[in-house]
Amino acid sequence: MPKYLLAALVALLLCACAHQAPRNPLATWVPSDNFDPRRPVLVVLHYTEQDSAQRSLDTLRTANSGGRVSSHYLIGKHGERYQLVSDVDRAWHAGAGSWGAVADVNSASIGIELDNNGREPFSEPLLESLLVLLGDLKARWRIPAGNFIAHSDLAPGRKIDPGVHFPWKRLAQHGYGVWPRDDTPPAPPGFDAAQALRTVGYPVDDLDATSRAFRLRFRALADGTLDAEDHRILYALAQGWTIPADGVQP
Ligand SMILES: [Zn+2]
Repeated sequence: MPKYLLAALVALLLCACAHQAPRNPLATWVPSDNFDPRRPVLVVLHYTEQDSAQRSLDTLRTANSGGRVSSHYLIGKHGERYQLVSDVDRAWHAGAGSWGAVADVNSASIGIELDNNGREPFSEPLLESLLVLLGDLKARWRIPAGNFIAHSDLAPGRKIDPGVHFPWKRLAQHGYGVWPRDDTPPAPPGFDAAQALRTVGYPVDDLDATSRAFRLRFRALADGTLDAEDHRILYALAQGWTIPADGVQP
């Protein structure tokens, strides 16, 4: 075979194998430069519920007995960061659930798995490393503070991670996730907790499950049904009376 033909064949084969944006054969491809990557609008935090980052890397990259799962990032106990899926692609971490107007959370979010078995505090290097990553994601994708959420927030009754040990107040003090100010007034008489939960972003089709998810995030040590303190917190969140990013209360 002449050399130039061989070169052409090799080029053709390489083209066929290269990753290309899918184009619909039903239409003529007339590319426009006026576009950008799809923008994630939520960040969902998880714990791995496993005992090592290596095991979690395996789980997030293989077919498992319970089905395939993945996340965009995994942070290990020592603060090591791994990226498994590009920010602009859809990873499989959220499953069924919703947050605010977002009904398909996987399509709109970045998922971060944290190397924690759910039974012990998150390590300091992991948290420091997470704060660095969140700062990067918030800046690059312009994600509002209120859109950094727990897996348990979007899937009440089905998920409880990142669990009771996760320091949400500390995160809010850095500008990731919301936390109520201490000095807000009690909720007014006739306060509608379900409406406030909906305003904050929670799905409310199962109000009992959502109330438990809210408790887990904002008052993990309390028990019983929602009380006046829960209502004060919810009222403050629904009103936007949250602590500022520097953690200093006005
Ligand atoms: Zn999760």
